[in-house]
Amino acid sequence: QAKQGGRGSHAFFVPELDAVARRRVHLEEGLRLAILRDELSIAVQAQWTPSGQLQAGEVLVRWLKGPDGNPVSPGEFIPVAESSGLIKPLTLLVFSKALDLAAELQALELDIPLSVNFSTELFRDESIINGVLELLDESGVAADRVVLEITESLLIDTQPWVQDNMARLAARGLSFSLDDFGTGYSNLAYLKRMHLSELKIDKRFVDNLPGDEDNRTIVRSILSIARQFKLRVVAEGVETEEQMAFLASHGCDLLQGYLLHKPEPAEAWVAKLSRQKN
Ligand code: C2E
Ligand code: MG
Ligand code: MG
Ligand code: MG
Repeated sequence: QAKQGGRGSHAFFVPELDAVARRRVHLEEGLRLAILRDELSIAVQAQWTPSGQLQAGEVLVRWLKGPDGNPVSPGEFIPVAESSGLIKPLTLLVFSKALDLAAELQALELDIPLSVNFSTELFRDESIINGVLELLDESGVAADRVVLEITESLLIDTQPWVQDNMARLAARGLSFSLDDFGTGYSNLAYLKRMHLSELKIDKRFVDNLPGDEDNRTIVRSILSIARQFKLRVVAEGVETEEQMAFLASHGCDLLQGYLLHKPEPAEAWVAKLSRQKN
């Protein structure tokens, strides 16, 4: 029985930990192969103005055939990629697919910038930044068609080259969005950092709107702060009409969530847009 104390509970949990560790190794090996074999794909989730205009999209990586032949969610494999170094080739692959998609949108004369998620680890490695800039140059995609989603852990990283690498990307015309805002080490001073053009309100603050008083206060505060820093705000995880109405009435610029659009394979999404245009 776990209740019996230190040793007993330890022994009780070892098989559990072992299974977790095995799954991790399994995922890491599978992911390494999936990257080599180009088996990762991208989905897009559209972002809309409160009045219903398609404005932008977020690119989300997909691993549809994991080690067991089943899809693995990014919530599970991205942490594995981040702690194994695989996040570097993975991001270059995703970024290159995002640029292909952006080029297609550009060719269709659709003015829809795409956001790509960039883990903090990437900014510690100059070769990745070089790779990103090379891909952008080769693609012919305008830099203002691409937004890099970063998290608060990047902004508090004091290693000088992290800021230098961010500045190099910004100098090339790329802009940054602060993802999952409010879940990290929130410090308003970070919002003054150059290159930031957007804040994303994390789903956990959108959940239970407008019923939850704390979330109402948090969301109103984020919107008011963003306005003062002249940052665009995207709310993520919008699932209900009530959430949408609250966010719209408080001046949120863009809405993203299952209510408006579930992430969809990139090819299907662009094909749909192309049909709608003709
Ligand atoms: P995120 O960047 O905050 O992306 C939003 C996540 O919320 C996506 O999950 C999306 O499918 C989900 N979502 C959107 N609207 C709703 C909604 O209304 N309800 C619910 N329940 N969920 C919603 P996904 O695709 O599973 O991605 C999870 C996380 O994995 C992302 O969170 C991001 O942190 C990471 N991720 C995804 N793709 C990449 C990538 O290419 N590179 C990196 N570094 N991270 C990625
Ligand atoms: Mg994101
Ligand atoms: Mg997010
Ligand atoms: Mg999130």
